Amino acid sequence: MAAIKGKDYLSRLKNTPPETWLGDEKIIDPTSHPLVASPAKSIAKLYDLQWDDDKKDYMLYTDPITGELEGTQFLVPRSKEELKKRGQMHLEWAKASYGFMGRSTDFMSAQLLGWYSNAEFFGKFADNVREYFRYVQKNDLFLTHVLINPQVDRSQPPSKQPDEFTYLGVVKETEDGIIVRGAKMMATAGPYADEVLVFPFANQKMDIEDYKYAISFAVPMSAPGLRCIARESYVKESQMDYPLASQFDELDGILVFDDVFVPWNRVFIYQEPEKVNQVLNYTSLFTGHQSTIRLMTKLQFVAGLAMKATEVINTNVFPQVQDLMGEITTYIELCRAAITAAEEGAKPNEQGIYIPDFRPLSAIRNSGNRWYPRSREILQIILAGGLMYQPASFSVFDSPIKEDIEKYFRGADISAKEKIQIYKIANELAVSSFGSRHELYERYYAGDPLFLRINSQYKKYDKTECYSLVDQLINQISTDTKVLANKS
Ligand SMILES: Cc1cc2nc3c(=O)[nH]c(=O)nc-3n(C[C@H](O)[C@H](O)[C@H](O)COP(=O)(O)OP(=O)(O)OC[C@H]3O[C@@H](n4cnc5c(N)ncnc54)[C@H](O)[C@@H]3O)c2cc1C
Repeated sequence: MAAIKGKDYLSRLKNTPPETWLGDEKIIDPTSHPLVASPAKSIAKLYDLQWDDDKKDYMLYTDPITGELEGTQFLVPRSKEELKKRGQMHLEWAKASYGFMGRSTDFMSAQLLGWYSNAEFFGKFADNVREYFRYVQKNDLFLTHVLINPQVDRSQPPSKQPDEFTYLGVVKETEDGIIVRGAKMMATAGPYADEVLVFPFANQKMDIEDYKYAISFAVPMSAPGLRCIARESYVKESQMDYPLASQFDELDGILVFDDVFVPWNRVFIYQEPEKVNQVLNYTSLFTGHQSTIRLMTKLQFVAGLAMKATEVINTNVFPQVQDLMGEITTYIELCRAAITAAEEGAKPNEQGIYIPDFRPLSAIRNSGNRWYPRSREILQIILAGGLMYQPASFSVFDSPIKEDIEKYFRGADISAKEKIQIYKIANELAVSSFGSRHELYERYYAGDPLFLRINSQYKKYDKTECYSLVDQLINQISTDTKVLANKS
């Protein structure tokens, strides 16, 4: 098997569903449950998009090893052109969800590609990483991932939590594999994913006494003993009233591993705190490409909506409104520039795999987590009461007060129906639960923004050019001063 279609993904999900709990309800069939099926169907549409006649050229490629048509998300780029082809694929999928599916399947395949490209880092488990990448590719699997420990006592390391297995750790090892117990957050898309990739992500360095928690592995979401405790779903039924939440609410959940068996061939890091401390260096090499393209798409959507919503009531003529919309388009262009810089600046590693220049992508990752909340704030500032006064449902047009609606909800040159449609989307983005979750997502999806920026933009930042300018001036002053002293 190679690249699949939406129906293949849905039937696989129906046959091997994750154990998901929504409150006290156990979800039996995620493909038909009213609160879970809609994002799963949106994922299925992404799979189908691979096969569109006018998109196949860049959504698929013939794998030189298997000879089969595979999804470009698994293309191991051996040139800048192949990296750009990956970019086209990311853009196509981002546009299909208007940037609202951060965890579309190309996010995790990009992450695995980063590991695959540096498999030797995993030492004796290097072949497990390579084989797992190929396995996910062969079956075109949809992955979620969990990195973070549950928020129980953040002031203490894993070994000092209230229970030995509050955090996910190894209970015992057998000849065939390991048994793991404990919890991890946050499995976005967990309730409708095929498999989960687990690895710890710590703000603080993991010490040797925490070795039993220093593990990374993958298992099917339907593995015995694994359950997902989902948050409240924000899915709404009516597409007219909730165009975004009705399709793109990526359900998040906590994963509980209740003595889950992991075979040795799915173990990638085993009780090695130092490896856990370093694995992040290889995790974002390609995800930064995906997430910058997706963020650009999302910001374009937000900007377009802001422009339309202000045009229909003519607030777009006011300079402060124009200025704020211009702020959003500035962010868009910075994303675009970073994508081009990352692709053009890509360099082959020792295996000849082209790795995007991470510097511009890192800069966006450390800015996007502030730009998106700001863009949402801009919507609130410039659309104001319009975000709150739309009728509860389009069914109002079939009611006795229809004429009120036509008269008081119209725009300057636009009918009430058309204007309400625009503002309903704005409401979802700027003030709904769905919209708030997206703000939180952009702030946190890549990790704690505080530590992210400290680590990548300061501690690990190549400071050579910055220092050299300062040194140049200091040297110049000292030379000039000596010349002056010699003269006098
Ligand atoms: C919508 C959404 C989707 C997500 N999806 C995923 C996913 O698919 N997979 C996944 O693995 N994760 C996911 N995450 C989790 C995300 O990676 C974490 O939220 C992020 O790493 C921050 O961790 P935390 O939420 O535990 O916050 P905490 O680490 O508990 O931080 C809370 C606050 O305390 C501060 N703080 C915490 N520790 C320290 C410290 N040691 N020193 C100083 N200050 C500290 C932080 O700066 C922050 O202000 C998602 C999160 C969200 C919100």
